[in-house]
Formats: sequence, structure tokens, C-alpha cells
Amino acid sequence: MARRAVVTGGTRGIGAAISIALKQAGHDVVANFAGNAEAAKAFTDQTGIAALKWDVGDFDACAAGLKEAEDTLGGGIDIVVNNAGITRDGMFHKMTPEAWNDVIRVDLTSLFNMSRPVIDGMRERGWGRIVNISSINGQKGQMGQVNYSAAKAGVIGFTKALAQETARKGITVNCVAPGYIDTDMVAAVPQNVLDQIIAGIPVNRLGKADEIGKAVAFLCSEDAGFITGATLSANGGQYMCG
Ligand code: NDP
Repeated sequence: MARRAVVTGGTRGIGAAISIALKQAGHDVVANFAGNAEAAKAFTDQTGIAALKWDVGDFDACAAGLKEAEDTLGGGIDIVVNNAGITRDGMFHKMTPEAWNDVIRVDLTSLFNMSRPVIDGMRERGWGRIVNISSINGQKGQMGQVNYSAAKAGVIGFTKALAQETARKGITVNCVAPGYIDTDMVAAVPQNVLDQIIAGIPVNRLGKADEIGKAVAFLCSEDAGFITGATLSANGGQYMCG
């Protein structure tokens, strides 16, 4: 059955792969983005998926953006994928309040901002899927990423708590925790560091964005209705927890 879906940061990298996987699964999709209009236009031209710009760190902007997405898709949002994320890496003893706040706002507060406006509609309709993109570094911690690790660990706590609240309303809430995936975010990592990282991944390669996209599409499917509050690790065996 076709559902109405919004993917944050859905025009590039992992988010683009998620938007495409949801479309391939038969859903109607809006992809949100922050400011890279050129990438968003290229994505829409290539896929036919509408791209809408708003800042996921801003509650009012999310409420307005979700309303626009509902108008675009012709009804209430059934699927939200909270994928947008940023890094502001640095050792903690040098970390600025801005680097802390920016990451918490975009990577964690965005989950509240994007889920709160749609939750009533999902509860009324008795069906919903919320999938949040965490990270291996939220599971294990990573030096140089106290802000990011804290935000991504918070994503897992958010997921478990909301999953409990919504389970009886037909709404599932899950996380995917990717390891290192070949996107612009990872391209920013210096090559010598990347070589060391790949050496520590049992499958001996970076992940591909569409491997995450397809995992998310499964969690959004009817077949995944008994899976809620879960964190699906997709990291090539780099970190095995739980
Ligand atoms: P990219 O940097 O390639 O893309 C990030 C996307 O998020 C872009 O579409 C960007 O929009 C959007 N975005 C950033 N800030 C905002 C904002 N304030 N409001 C709305 N959209 C925003 O990231 P990846 O594809 O690599 O990562 C996607 C997610 O996966 C992130 O949450 C990341 O933390 C997580 N992750 C990534 C891993 C990896 O190895 N790549 C590993 C583990 C987790 P625009 O195009 O306009 O800039």
C-alpha cells in the first residue's frame, strides 16, 4: 500500500538512497534539504521526487515544512525518516558551545521537531512509521565526536521511549545505526584515517548508501509491523552490540 513519506536530508547521500528506496517500495515521497539547492534540483530531475527546503533544527520550520509536504502529497504523513545530520568534530577540550549546540540541534532535537507535528495524525489513522538514523558512534562513542556521539546515542533513547508510547496505535519507531558509509560526510575524513577505519571493518569496505536505504524501506514496510524500538546496526561487522 502506498504511504506518504518525508525523508529529512533526503536529497544527498544516505538520505537520497532512502528516498529512492521508499519510492521503489511504492510510496509517495518528499525529500527535505537544508540549503544545497543545486543538489536538490539534480536529485528531483533524476528521480521525480519533490524536494522541499527547511531547517530540521527549527520546530516552526518543521511544522510548516510538514504542512507543505502534506499539501504536496495530498494527505497526512505516514512515514518520517529522520536522516538529516551534521558533524562538528573536535576534541572535547577544544569544543565550542556552538559545535555542541549545532550538532544536538540538527542531529537530536530535529527528531522532536519532525515527529511531534505528525504524531497526532498517525495516532488518529492508526498507522505510522518513524525511522531515525543513529550511528555506530552513538553506540560505541568516538573520540573527537563527544557532541555527535551524545546526539546519536540520544536518538536511540528517543526511539525506545516513543516506540513504547505509540505501539498500541499501530506506529513503530526504530533506528538504523550505520557504520562508515561512502558519502560526502565520510569523504571529509582524511584518507589515512579512512584507511585505518576500513582495516577495522570485517567486510573490508565502506558501506553503500543504498544498503542503508533498503534497510530503512524494510522498517517502513507492512511486514515490519512487529519490529519497534529496535536499533538495526548496519556496519559491516565493525561493532557488534546487544
Ligand atoms: P551528508 O552530509 O551526505 O548529507 C546530509 C543531508 O542532511 C543533506 O541532504 C543536508 O542537506 C541535510 N541537512 C543537514 N543539515 C540539515 C538541516 N539543518 N535541515 C535539513 N537538512 C539538513 O550526510 P550522510 O548521508 O553521510 O548522513 C546521513 C545521516 O546518516 C546523518 O544523520 C549521519 O549522521 C548518519 N550517518 C552517516 C554515516 C556515514 O558514514 N556517512 C555513518 C553513520 C551515520 P543539504 O543537501 O541541503 O546540505
